[in-house]
Amino acid sequence: MTSESSAPHTLPHWVGNEPWRGSAARTGEVVDPATGRRRLHVHLAEPADVDAAVEAARAAFPGWRETSLTRRTQVLFRFRELLAERKGELAEIITAEHGKVLDDALGEISRGLEVVEFACGLGHLLKGEMTDNASTGVDVHSLRQPLGPVAVVSPFNFPAMVPMWFFPLAIAAGNTVVLKPSEKDPSAANWLAELWVEAGLPPGVFNVLHGEGDAVDGLLRHSAVKAVSFVGSTPIARHVYETATAHGKRVQALGGAKNHMLVLPDADLDQAADAAVNAGFGSAGERCMAVSALVAIDSVADELVDRVREKVGGLRVGDGRRGTDMGPLVTGEHRDRVADYVRAGVAEGAELVVDGREVTPEGSGEGFWLGPTLFDHVTPEMSVYTDEIFGPVLSVLRVSSYEEALELINANPYGNGVALFTNDGRTARHFQREVEVGMVGINVPIPVPVAYYSFGGWKASLFGDTHAYGTEGVHFFTRGKAVTTRWPEPEQHQVGLGFPQNT
Ligand code: NAD
Repeated sequence: MTSESSAPHTLPHWVGNEPWRGSAARTGEVVDPATGRRRLHVHLAEPADVDAAVEAARAAFPGWRETSLTRRTQVLFRFRELLAERKGELAEIITAEHGKVLDDALGEISRGLEVVEFACGLGHLLKGEMTDNASTGVDVHSLRQPLGPVAVVSPFNFPAMVPMWFFPLAIAAGNTVVLKPSEKDPSAANWLAELWVEAGLPPGVFNVLHGEGDAVDGLLRHSAVKAVSFVGSTPIARHVYETATAHGKRVQALGGAKNHMLVLPDADLDQAADAAVNAGFGSAGERCMAVSALVAIDSVADELVDRVREKVGGLRVGDGRRGTDMGPLVTGEHRDRVADYVRAGVAEGAELVVDGREVTPEGSGEGFWLGPTLFDHVTPEMSVYTDEIFGPVLSVLRVSSYEEALELINANPYGNGVALFTNDGRTARHFQREVEVGMVGINVPIPVPVAYYSFGGWKASLFGDTHAYGTEGVHFFTRGKAVTTRWPEPEQHQVGLGFPQNT
């Protein structure tokens, strides 16, 4: 890695609607993965910084909770307008720190924007129920109330979208937020925080705390934090779930994935090959919904692999600001880890059809490059199949029947997303009912649900039971209350120690 000659700026935390250095005891480096150059430093929180950020959120909660729903949603609408107008600026930040191509960065913002738009309609979703005269002279109604300060912990691969899966709903519902973004690409969070100030959000309602695992642990254990929304790898998601629930919090912890795409012989093979390439290599495979296992029925496998190979050959790899199709991997360390998997795949006997290690990128040779890699004849015990590689490596597994494919997919410990390509409606119906995966695409390679449904996997891809955004998100960020009301006439009084019976 080389560093820029001018002294890099150090990104502060964001607390109480302004940049905040905190204890400033430690910093991390943020590197542009397309050039290998350091962009900036970022402050990394110490325990006292965690306390200060949570205290800001705690102090802001009573006022924000009392702010009327109308006023709260007006701020959301302003935030939505500003984000839609200025999303180009945010996309440039994402590309410079994550490496994904600009179009893809814009795509991630638009998916986050959808959740903001959904949150703008929260008034409707927070409506309670009311039963008149449930018992004689007794009415019952329900309401949902905010929880208090909540923590959002996000991964590097969607520095804008993943935080936006959570904070728009949390804020609209009257909670206050401490966001701990990935330390690898932290600037998007500060940009979003500044936008909230412009939108009129009061101080302390949205705070950004930069840091590593110890900062996250501080949030998980802090008594004032009432809920944790986490997205990241499975081992950390499990740790977050276990620690935060042990400290009495509600938790949704979304983990890693190994997503399959099954192609049946009756599918349109050109469409299926396009989809496999898009879903396998978009964002350099650094998507939790990326397809990494392409399952082909024997009779069409040769033809499918040929078409995928041909399409991969047309991809332009390089700096995401140059109109390329695929950018670099996020760090040099991660690129090396993915390259190790490619070596392991070869050693374990898979057939390397396209070797991404031989790529010639458009742009700086110092970037963290690894081109699209295609393996054929992968078997279920090979590490390229068993592990989440999180890079541009697509493994083809050949099976003899639909039944064998379904068994393979259901035996996998992960259950985030899956896609089936077919023209047979009856098989598609069977598949969507029987597959043990949380998000299913039929002729759709990356079935990320729209904002008014909810996003979440099964098995090792989600710890907790509540999915992100949609009505499940609203439920997560509020708690229910049932109120039973009676206004008796003054003369209606009597002592009665029995449990009241409904009359
Ligand atoms: P990661 O697990 O390394 O980090 C995620 C977050 O956890 C970061 O904010 C990080 O600072 C923090 N963290 C790291 N170590 C920690 C520790 N020991 N204790 C507490 N917190 C810790 O994940 P990543 O590499 O940033 O992101 C890639 C992973 O995220 C992949 O596994 C991917 O599948 C997953 N992901 C899942 C979804 C989903 O919806 N299921 C979405 C996006 C990404």
